[in-house]
Amino acid sequence: MIKNALCALALLVLAACTVENSVTGRSQFIIIPPSQDSALGLEALNEVKKTAPVVTTGRMAQRVQRIGKRIAAVSDKPELDWEFIVIDEPVLNAWALPGGKVAIYRKMLDNLSDLQLAAVMGHEVAHAVLRHGAEQMSRAQAQNMAIIGLGVLVSSQTEDEQTAQMAIGLGALAAQGFVALPHSRKMELEADHIGTIYMAKAGYDPRNAVTLWQKMASLKEGGGGQPTFLSTHPSDDKRINRLSDRMDEDLSYYQR
Ligand SMILES: [Zn+2]
Repeated sequence: MIKNALCALALLVLAACTVENSVTGRSQFIIIPPSQDSALGLEALNEVKKTAPVVTTGRMAQRVQRIGKRIAAVSDKPELDWEFIVIDEPVLNAWALPGGKVAIYRKMLDNLSDLQLAAVMGHEVAHAVLRHGAEQMSRAQAQNMAIIGLGVLVSSQTEDEQTAQMAIGLGALAAQGFVALPHSRKMELEADHIGTIYMAKAGYDPRNAVTLWQKMASLKEGGGGQPTFLSTHPSDDKRINRLSDRMDEDLSYYQR
């Protein structure tokens, strides 16, 4: 009886948290309201700044900020509190936090042209605009809640204990940051698609999105193991094929 009621409640919550993305039209399960995105992103960024060698001034940072701001300005959410930082580590990686905080690692800057960098930035800006971080965190949180829900059924905890457990779950995720949560393949291909349109609209030749992934593949073969930026991503061939298939559409934004 209680179990049925809880299941019904869970289904209601799931339905209530499913929102249609205005850019892609895809239904996303997101328990975090859009108004919370920037606070969560800022909190996670402050955590990163405590431990990582974050660079926000100087030539490297200016290069990233110049390209990033130009792309964010033509995105579907120019109004976000965009911030572009460099992390001074020899790693091929980049990520975006909810609310428009984007980080690029130094090895990317050392190896990529401005146009290839624009493709990376378009991809990351698209992740933030499409709320992929919030979606990813919601999935993880839903799994936590399912575990807590089971706990309620078997041990009949007091409400305080449940709240405490929820708080522990949220705290652990925030500490991990959104950085450690991998995006799904679907999100990656979505970020490629929308990101290449943004890059083209900002005046960067979108054909460089293809050369970016060719370059990334060659850097990967050059040793040093699987770059982090690629490890959670679809195969290079698959994304290069997808990008090439859509290039006529992307070029129409570029020539406009
Ligand atoms: Zn990505």
